[in-house]
Amino acid sequence: MSVGASFLEQVNQAFDRAAGFTQHDATLLANIKACKNLFYTSFPVKRDDGRIEVMHAWRAEHSHHKLPCKGGIRFALDVDADEVQALAALMTYKCALVDVPFGGAKGAIRLNPKSYTTDELERITRRYVFELVRKNFIGPGLDVPAPDVGTGPREMAWVADTYTQLRPGELDALGCVTAKPVSQGGIRGRTEATGRGVFFGTREVVSLAEDMKPLGLSTGLEGKRVVIQGLGNVGYFAAKFFQEGGAVLVGFAEAEGAIANPKGLDLEKVMAYRRERRSFMDFPGAANLARREDALELDCDILIPAALERQVTADNAPRIKAKIVVEAANGPTTPEADAILARRNVMVVPDTFINAGGVTVSYFEWVKNLGHVRFGRMQKRFEQGAYGRLLHAVEGVTGRQFTNEEIERITHGASEEDLVNSGLEETMISAYHPIRAIWKREQGKVDLRTAAMILAIDKVALSYEQLGIFP
Ligand code: NAD
Repeated sequence: MSVGASFLEQVNQAFDRAAGFTQHDATLLANIKACKNLFYTSFPVKRDDGRIEVMHAWRAEHSHHKLPCKGGIRFALDVDADEVQALAALMTYKCALVDVPFGGAKGAIRLNPKSYTTDELERITRRYVFELVRKNFIGPGLDVPAPDVGTGPREMAWVADTYTQLRPGELDALGCVTAKPVSQGGIRGRTEATGRGVFFGTREVVSLAEDMKPLGLSTGLEGKRVVIQGLGNVGYFAAKFFQEGGAVLVGFAEAEGAIANPKGLDLEKVMAYRRERRSFMDFPGAANLARREDALELDCDILIPAALERQVTADNAPRIKAKIVVEAANGPTTPEADAILARRNVMVVPDTFINAGGVTVSYFEWVKNLGHVRFGRMQKRFEQGAYGRLLHAVEGVTGRQFTNEEIERITHGASEEDLVNSGLEETMISAYHPIRAIWKREQGKVDLRTAAMILAIDKVALSYEQLGIFP
């Protein structure tokens, strides 16, 4: 393991380590590991004041064993070809783990979104999509972007509109991008999906007494002390569902710094305070930490890095007090830190599994777009009627009259959001157990990250073997 490995080397080292536990042919493994397409473009953009600026952008398609490819678009200053390839590879393994039938991809534009106006960001996004269309790097059957750091539903609506304009009459055009606003073909529950998935997955992990005992933890999330780094899309919703699930949020880190309160921080109060002052520092009852990264070392049970890659490093890993690190962000733990945490008996729940909720619900959105009908629309009323008739029959047999409130609660037909959340819960719970089974099978020789990677490699390898080689 080289010190200071790049993010791509970090991902590939994790792959190689796991590959050593599989029986696959070396060339097949090399083929799985290699990024299949890498697109780089630079294009000029006119700023509002008339200045011209040259933008640099990428799209990496890591695997074509299933199509379309899938992965977010990141707007950040430090993006490069290495990073998009690393993130695209993680997407391949992630999709395999949660049985989402996509290859991995990732896109990025090098910019700080805070330095541009909304009009400028729109022009940049649309020109990027134009370049992707020109090179066949976007389309409902080719490659389907989604948000990542620095982008959200607003940018995805621009992506969808630009693609649709350039492909008039393409019936499935809206399936070219996911996490769109609901009114633009998006799906209810997508915005919350990654954070909600982090919650469902962690709840499953901590429900198993056999695994919690060696960590000195009881089962369940109730009362668990949690620290979250990054209160963006993923971190905020993870925090919200953990708090609703009974966990105590004892520390937050954000761009402006870090705060802590061992008795617990009320998430919504912190967010309201932060909105008003553009910073949560000096939040009443909380202590300001000297440096924002000090939050990672707070006394807690669960640490959730939900900001960026390479936050838990060889430098801070020896001082991390959490018993479980839940990788809500992509690649937040360096391989050196991983080794230190393993020695210190800290469980790391890997990104490839735990933050897969976003792509899972993106898959549901894509299916909805291809089906051209909202989930639940056909059956909601029918279910309601069927349950109502059943209750009526029960009343006839038992002589008991249900109250209106009971009838409403029991006969409620599933809405789109109910179905999305239920599909997400099922996915996260059932994805964990095969990973855990490999972890147990290897009896201390691998951690959960390697177990997840072994499973992902097995699934992708099977697909490549069955497909054969063209021509
Ligand atoms: P986001 O831009 O909405 O949020 C990131 C937050 O982290 C921002 O609020 C930012 O201010 C904060 N931040 C940045 N650097 C920080 C630091 N050093 N310390 C503390 N806070 C810091 O992005 P997001 O969509 O929430 O993504 C976060 C992570 O989750 C990324 O690694 C991303 O790849 C991963 N991820 C996102 C999704 C998704 O659906 N959005 C899905 C899977 C994985």
